Amino acid sequence: MRFFDAHCHLDHPAFDADRAALLARLRPRLSGLVIAGYDPAHFDRVVSLCDGQFVFGALGLHPHHLGDSRAALDARLAALDRALASRPRGLVAVGECGFDRNASPAARQLASAALAAQIGLAKAHRLGLVLHLVGGVDEATKLLKTNDFSRAMVHRYSGSLAQAERLFALGAVLSFGAEVLRPEAERLRAVLRVAPRGQYALESDAPFNVPRREAGPSDPGVVLELAQAAATVRGSTLATVARETRESARRVFGLCEDGDPEAPRV
Ligand SMILES: [Zn+2]
Ligand SMILES: [Zn+2]
Repeated sequence: MRFFDAHCHLDHPAFDADRAALLARLRPRLSGLVIAGYDPAHFDRVVSLCDGQFVFGALGLHPHHLGDSRAALDARLAALDRALASRPRGLVAVGECGFDRNASPAARQLASAALAAQIGLAKAHRLGLVLHLVGGVDEATKLLKTNDFSRAMVHRYSGSLAQAERLFALGAVLSFGAEVLRPEAERLRAVLRVAPRGQYALESDAPFNVPRREAGPSDPGVVLELAQAAATVRGSTLATVARETRESARRVFGLCEDGDPEAPRV
């Protein structure tokens, strides 16, 4: 039984020393993983790791990497468009993109424009969308709705149950990280409990989001622990969680249930 890591940063230098060994350890346990890009400066790094079989990639502009003016943002969006148009092997989504609470009002406006543009790029290139929403859930939901876009996954979901219900109604997938393991995260587990099958995913966000204070950088293997937690929370079995989360990967990333890509897109 294998699980899918819907969001990680395996291209991060933290993995430079033992990436190949780590991938060899992960292959028997995971059905695949998606590396999320966040800055054009690192797109090559992401693309070089994607094999289109086990390692998939997303390219996008994180709200902290938009540049500091509309002109800078436009240049980055153009770079993103070019990277997407080159159709790198294993490319499955645009992202991560969205909102972050630390932004100033001007940066917030830029983030809004950047998200609208990236929804447009996902549509134009027929790709999924990976959302980073630390706050901004309502605004992002509105943008998805007005653009009639449903192939979206909110990574490390942290909104309310009511906001989740609206996203589920749009067809979006919510992805859960190590936060669900925390004793105080009952509100988040309540969302995971009611998520429709095929609309929840599990993710490491490795090397970030370390599940325990004493642990070193996290790695995608943590998804197995998250799957156990999801089975407990949903009163379900591990096999069901494996199947239902692969269904989510199919919905957003266009991947077959066994983790293999569907017929190549044209
Ligand atoms: Zn993120
Ligand atoms: Zn991330």
